[in-house]
Amino acid sequence: MVGLGPAGRPWLTPEAQDALATADELVGYGPYLDRVPPNPRQRRHPTDNREEARRAVHALELARAGSRVAVVSSGDPGVFAMASAVLEAAAEPRFADVAVRVVPGLTAAQAVASRAGAPLGHDYCVLSLSDLLKPWDVVAARITAAARSDMVLAIYNPASRSRTWQVAAARDLLLEHRAPRTPVVIGRDVGGSAESVRVVTLGELDPAEVDMRCLLVVGSSTTRVVERGGRQVVYTPRRYPA
Ligand code: SAH
Repeated sequence: MVGLGPAGRPWLTPEAQDALATADELVGYGPYLDRVPPNPRQRRHPTDNREEARRAVHALELARAGSRVAVVSSGDPGVFAMASAVLEAAAEPRFADVAVRVVPGLTAAQAVASRAGAPLGHDYCVLSLSDLLKPWDVVAARITAAARSDMVLAIYNPASRSRTWQVAAARDLLLEHRAPRTPVVIGRDVGGSAESVRVVTLGELDPAEVDMRCLLVVGSSTTRVVERGGRQVVYTPRRYPA
């Protein structure tokens, strides 16, 4: 399981480059495979984004037959990506002898945070707003727990073409415990050609600005925004008031 990072080559680790270069077969969502330079020695197996379990079994079958297989994910393979699906499938007795290894990648939250400053400098939690694989009640309960505990939130999968109401619902839940002036970073396609990073307030967070290529970082009560060189820089101090 190989993490490609959130975009482009500068965020691909040397270890991941090596794993990709030495693989016989590449398995993964088509657009992610397209980010790996072509190698005529390799076979590629692009799949739909929703077929995680089938893709995992397929990769393990190829490996069991003797191939060196790289299952690619964007960002880190352990963060809302393929590593769990592969390990779940690998629990089947027929895959007991297949060696599996996780090659980490830079995850989107770190990439977005770095562009904004240091919003994740204190305690934070990571959650996916997608209710495709878990019920919305669970998502809502976790948002509320994070909001009550005054943690910064890094929110993956905030919206998609078919999921459009969740950002407003999350914002309204957060506003029950957090001030409207709380900073929110909207990082879109960070490191890619359509990169944009905007700093807004929770009270003014407009769901129309958020799509599936965005990650949101919602500040805590201590997160600050300062002007530096004509742009807004966001950070969360490491100290927490007694
Ligand atoms: N495994 C990936 C996350 C996959 S879930 C990782 O570790 O980064 C897909 C979500 O990741 C997107 O909906 C978005 O919230 C976030 N994401 C991935 N790449 C991104 C990028 N370049 N800029 C902003 N957000 C990104």
